[in-house]
Amino acid sequence: MLYADWRDVPARLWRWPDFSPREIASRGDGSLLVMPEAMDRLQAARTRIGRPFVITSAYRDPVHNARVGGAPLSRHKAGDAFDIALAGHDRAALLAACRAAGFTGFGFYSSFLHVDLGPERSWGQWKS
Ligand SMILES: [Zn+2]
Repeated sequence: MLYADWRDVPARLWRWPDFSPREIASRGDGSLLVMPEAMDRLQAARTRIGRPFVITSAYRDPVHNARVGGAPLSRHKAGDAFDIALAGHDRAALLAACRAAGFTGFGFYSSFLHVDLGPERSWGQWKS
């Protein structure tokens, strides 16, 4: 479901207690594409970890995605990708929780972990 503004999301339809529509919405125009299957997995990973997730990027409207240099076919435009800040987390535990929750795409960055529901793949590398 695509909302032109994250404030339009009915509270009764938002079932992910550790996240808010605002933090999942596009940092560009404030729109929000809610993909329940992806949100369920994000919440499952968060519940498993038991510590706050800081989401630095989730849904991106097409203009914003282009502006931040996102891939043209970025899963962020499909609403099933999340960038989770690494600060305060054990990287291996975070990765394991996201895998267990059913995420299939992983991008390893120095300050965040990208997860999505695209084809099984990964890119980047964490230096240990
Ligand atoms: Zn990402």
